Amino acid sequence: MALQRKLSPKLTLYRDRHFPMCALSKNRLGHRAVVGAGGNVGDVRRRFHHLLTYLRRAKGVDVLATGPILKNPPFGYLEQDDFHNTVLAISTPMQPRVFLRFLLHLEKKFGRRRSFANAPRTLDLDILFFDNRVINSADLVVPHPHWHERESVVIPLQGIDRCLNIQGR
Ligand code: AMP
Repeated sequence: MALQRKLSPKLTLYRDRHFPMCALSKNRLGHRAVVGAGGNVGDVRRRFHHLLTYLRRAKGVDVLATGPILKNPPFGYLEQDDFHNTVLAISTPMQPRVFLRFLLHLEKKFGRRRSFANAPRTLDLDILFFDNRVINSADLVVPHPHWHERESVVIPLQGIDRCLNIQGR
């Protein structure tokens, strides 16, 4: 059962058993990535739960925290359904580019087909932060540009801040 709170006429925040979540026992696998997840095709909240189940079973990743899920309107191409977005803090031994490839593989696994920029999508995964690293290369920009301007990132992030501070990392 999800609790939902309307933040404004266009924004709704959902909380349920796994979003937000703050893991008590954590493997510390070397690096900490904060990942933004979003989608607007099919049942995205259900897909986030499937993603979490998959990540919990996967080797080389440990989910430290998840944020609440924010329903919010699209930007760019506006003739499409609202998005659902959340964030996940993940501990991993992978280097940033290997981790990016892992996320691209997950997008494919969860049905993403690339068509045009800002097009509807089943699952979009972005690296928002990777430790305190600053990366500016052709295939990877970290911290993710514009993250601080997007409600779809900032609001779910507020839900994991406290959890990560408690962990003292
Ligand atoms: P998108 O269509 O927004 O999912 O863009 C995916 C592409 O953006 C990937 O193939 C990456 O090479 C590139 N990219 C650059 N920076 C990042 C980042 N921080 N997280 C995820 N993808 C990134």
